[in-house]
Amino acid sequence: MKSLVLEKKDDITLRDFPAIDREEEVLGSRDIRIKMHTVGICGSDVHYYTHGRIGPFVVKEPMILGHEASGTVIETGSEVTTLSVGDRVCMEPGVPDPNSKATRLGMYNVDPAVRFWATPPVHGILRPTCVHPEAFTFKLPDNVSFAEAAMVEPLAVGVHAATKAKIKPGDIALVIGAGPIGLVTALSALAGGCARVYVADLAEKKLEIAASLSPAITPINVKSQDITEIVKRDTDGWGVDVVFEATGSPKAAAGVFEPLCPGGCVVMIGGQPDPISYDAGAAMIREARVENIFRYAHVFPRCVAMLSSGAIDVKPLITRTFAFEDSVRAFDIAASAPPADVKLQIELPQ
Ligand SMILES: [Zn+2]
Repeated sequence: MKSLVLEKKDDITLRDFPAIDREEEVLGSRDIRIKMHTVGICGSDVHYYTHGRIGPFVVKEPMILGHEASGTVIETGSEVTTLSVGDRVCMEPGVPDPNSKATRLGMYNVDPAVRFWATPPVHGILRPTCVHPEAFTFKLPDNVSFAEAAMVEPLAVGVHAATKAKIKPGDIALVIGAGPIGLVTALSALAGGCARVYVADLAEKKLEIAASLSPAITPINVKSQDITEIVKRDTDGWGVDVVFEATGSPKAAAGVFEPLCPGGCVVMIGGQPDPISYDAGAAMIREARVENIFRYAHVFPRCVAMLSSGAIDVKPLITRTFAFEDSVRAFDIAASAPPADVKLQIELPQ
């Protein structure tokens, strides 16, 4: 079985990977065997490819990439009750220790023992099949495509961020960063009830895509426009109720409270490779609430439900699809950060 393997920094190959075949021989009583259909390329996959590490997670041995996936159930363990062979599914990539304190408290995403696909030393799923727990595998309604289902993983970050923000109907939000996570956050904020969402970025093409998603999204190009000025102008000097920081840039973090209204909430989404500072005084005079998120918890079924009902449409974010045999080229294109692309996906042979 060929897999897409990150051999080491700057080196990926499509090749047989016997260790994973052996690992997959065992199907636990509450596990599902899944034939992969579509896998999205995530910024984290690309970062491991180009940098060989993300913070404390270092690629020391060859690792299979990919964690945004959908597929079809081909085998079920003896105690599986909610899924059957032939079901179309998407999978939550992080599996915690079911007995850990974090899991028992309902915060399984921050369980220190969580095993997350394509985070060393755990292999990802750019391979023909995988074995996954029933509890982290979700059945798709007929009207949700495999491509949309492979977007549930990034969408889950946006929905988790919107949930943490405690959005109320009619709120005004600002999303800093129009990458895939920024855009799914904007869609989640609107689905959560926001009346308007500003999306700020440097890349005009990404802002065009943002603006095309909804008439309630207002793009701000930070090259030529001042975020705080625009937000204050449109809100009678009050500011936005929620700021989502989705760039990870220290510069964005430094000014994150400026456009925020008194009593508002800032959600830090962007990954921070190094410690950053923000203006605690600006937070204090607003009594700002600051939330941090790490991936997501308990939101996959909600994401699937919103894709099915049409409350959220992720299709415009999927800008290119590659065949599995073109995976290496797909990663090289993703690594070049093409300005007109949001999400690149890979389809496995069926
Ligand atoms: Zn991802």
